[in-house]
Amino acid sequence: MIEVDAAVIGGGFSGAAVAAQLARRVRPDFALALFEPNELGRGAAYGTRHDEHVLNTRAGMMSLFPDDPGHFVRWVGAGANPQAFISRRIYGAYVNEIARRAFERPRFTLIADRARRVERRGRCEYVVESGVGTRFAARAVVLATGNPPPNGGFLPREIRMHPGYIDDPWRCDYTRIGGHVLVIGSGLTALDVLVALDACGHRGVVHILSRRGRFPNVHADVAPYDVIPALDTRDARALLGSFRLHVRKAAERGFDWRSVIDALRPEAEAIWRRLRPVEQSRFERHLRMHWERHRHRAPQQVDAVRRRYQDAKRLFVYAGAIGEVQRGTVTIALRDGERAEVRPDWIVNCTGMGGAPAMRKDPLVAGMFADGLISAVPGNLGIRTTSDLVALGATNAPTEGLWIVGPPVRGSRFEATAVPELRVMAELVAREIARARPSAFSSLKASR
Ligand SMILES: Cc1cc2nc3c(=O)[nH]c(=O)nc-3n(C[C@H](O)[C@H](O)[C@H](O)COP(=O)(O)OP(=O)(O)OC[C@H]3O[C@@H](n4cnc5c(N)ncnc54)[C@H](O)[C@@H]3O)c2cc1C
Repeated sequence: MIEVDAAVIGGGFSGAAVAAQLARRVRPDFALALFEPNELGRGAAYGTRHDEHVLNTRAGMMSLFPDDPGHFVRWVGAGANPQAFISRRIYGAYVNEIARRAFERPRFTLIADRARRVERRGRCEYVVESGVGTRFAARAVVLATGNPPPNGGFLPREIRMHPGYIDDPWRCDYTRIGGHVLVIGSGLTALDVLVALDACGHRGVVHILSRRGRFPNVHADVAPYDVIPALDTRDARALLGSFRLHVRKAAERGFDWRSVIDALRPEAEAIWRRLRPVEQSRFERHLRMHWERHRHRAPQQVDAVRRRYQDAKRLFVYAGAIGEVQRGTVTIALRDGERAEVRPDWIVNCTGMGGAPAMRKDPLVAGMFADGLISAVPGNLGIRTTSDLVALGATNAPTEGLWIVGPPVRGSRFEATAVPELRVMAELVAREIARARPSAFSSLKASR
């Protein structure tokens, strides 16, 4: 058994950020093991092989450290524009380099393997087992296993069994894709697929289907709003009403709606927590989709690829749902009552990341659910945590010493996917781990 103070499972952005934050805070003899089978710091988002995949957030917002907003722009070097949308590959190199520096510490160890099991031995005592069976005793565990693949369960079996069906659009080799491509979903991932196809020389036709057939809004160069909007959180309807009022008032003073959203972003978590649970559910059902379209915007260069496809009559957009699939032909039931037919060579699932059911596909996470260490939020979006990101177990009690960081906390946190929110989570968890006294770990050693 190898003894460590903390084990971090997953080394995408979230795990890498926790390691970097710990390196700033802990004493020199603090031992960390981070499990990551792939390249450190890249994960689903920044492990893309296409230079054309750019960040959808401006460089000036992408520092790994919340208290040093210029860190990423300085890393890029002379001439870097904080307003630019930089390649995600470059961003992955940044996260990788910063995290690697953390692992220069003598007792920080990178384990190039998956973790396959976490067992609880005592209040703050865990045993983490790697894929090859090495066991690590840890007093703190951070689960940072990231974006679950899209949930395809709701798609007709014939779609999932199609020979050209791609269930994970983030880890796909687009050079092999040609002809007619049916993309299910019209969010940022669908635009990513268009950009990847274009970059790989695709000359065929793309069909994009979603319930409303709408694409994300597009970024614009706007002046920052000079007010932090105070919104009415009595209920979801009042929230929407007060938001619209702010947008109107801002427009009268010449500010774009985008700058109101951006000004709200640091406040969003606090606003969310003030809403009663019943109103949070109402927001999820009726407003979340609209918020996401306005909040997660596409850079202009990405939207330009979509327009190029459309101008060349190589992009067809459908608002509706899959009707039936027969002998390779997909019939789409359109919202206006009409029908359309597509005979795709490839079908890409871009319906966004799956929730708790998709997470359970990883035996590690499934085991943690089965042992009651973690539990799902109502609606199954993600894993339940306290406001300090400590996992809530099956009995509703906090699983002390076990933290969850990143997209798996969707549903517990209002925003849990983008770097400006993830870096705050990473800092919070690292601070808590560094603050905890190692007494539990000492007793773990003594008990063996
Ligand atoms: C395509 C895409 C583009 C994005 N673009 C932006 C953007 O421009 N700006 C922005 O702010 N946000 C963006 N995001 C949001 C993004 O989710 C986060 O920025 C970030 O990728 C989340 O990091 P993560 O480490 O939590 O998850 P992931 O990046 O998914 O990393 C999780 C890691 O855990 C590892 N892992 C999984 N299971 C195990 C296990 N059992 N044992 C060990 N390791 C394991 C995986 O190998 C993986 O490396 C984007 C997301 C996607 C998917």
